[in-house]
Amino acid sequence: MSKQRLQGKVAIVTGGATGIGAEAVRIFVENGASVVIADIKDELGHSLATSFGSEKVSYRHCDVRDENEVEETVAFTVEKYSSLDILFSNAGIAGPYSSLLDLDLNEFDNTMAINVRGVAATIKHAARVMVAKKIRGSIICTASVASSVGGSAGHEYTVSKHGVLGLVRSACGEFGAYGIRVNSVSPYALASPLTCDALDWGPAEVDAAQHGSANLEGITLKANHIAEAALFLASDESLYISGHNLVVDGGFTAVNRWLP
Ligand code: NAD
Repeated sequence: MSKQRLQGKVAIVTGGATGIGAEAVRIFVENGASVVIADIKDELGHSLATSFGSEKVSYRHCDVRDENEVEETVAFTVEKYSSLDILFSNAGIAGPYSSLLDLDLNEFDNTMAINVRGVAATIKHAARVMVAKKIRGSIICTASVASSVGGSAGHEYTVSKHGVLGLVRSACGEFGAYGIRVNSVSPYALASPLTCDALDWGPAEVDAAQHGSANLEGITLKANHIAEAALFLASDESLYISGHNLVVDGGFTAVNRWLP
């Protein structure tokens, strides 16, 4: 049995129905947390929640673009589990990839509404509860290697993920006074519905491209590696870490590969 690193904690995972979020749900539950999965993929979210066969996992429909739904999800969590210790603000979209010359500004607005405004809404409502209830909570946002470098993803995605880092830094400045930590995880590209849909590739093609461009031989980055990083930031093992961007990219952003 794994160490119960989140024993007695209550978490919300946005975008928890698939990919990185679903792995985080599994790992948080394994470590003793009660978890509310917040997503718009209702069928997948419900079936993931019921697969645990436990009252400790619930699913709520929550479109992070809708502040009322975010507020209701937070209220549901506190009502059902009497606390909110961890927010994993992970919901996001990517693509379409296009030249800036052909930028679709409606797509741009939608990406910002989910990846930046949605993250801000979840931080706002989760932190309100943490502040009011004097909970020394942990907020973790999913950023990206595209938060630190350009040219690795679509333009609107890159801008939005830079925005996530800005939010993490400004929120950590405000909430430190309440003992609330705010951090981010930044994955390199991995196979998930998000990448497969944006690139129109299968998971094997994403894995192959990852091997072609990453610095770390012999390991395929998977959703569980990101979820483990989120677990570390959610747990008391990272008790004095705030405002940090935990990059999980095998060295991709650190290395300038200008020589063969
Ligand atoms: P995914 O598509 O499997 O998961 C994203 C989840 O977010 C889905 O369940 C989706 O339904 C949900 N979602 C989308 N719009 C939403 C909305 N409006 N409200 C609520 N939920 C919504 O993809 P993933 O790869 O697991 O992505 C999770 C996070 O990781 C995203 O923020 C993404 O930008 C980030 N990320 C992914 C990669 C990658 O290569 N997969 C790399 C860097 C960062």
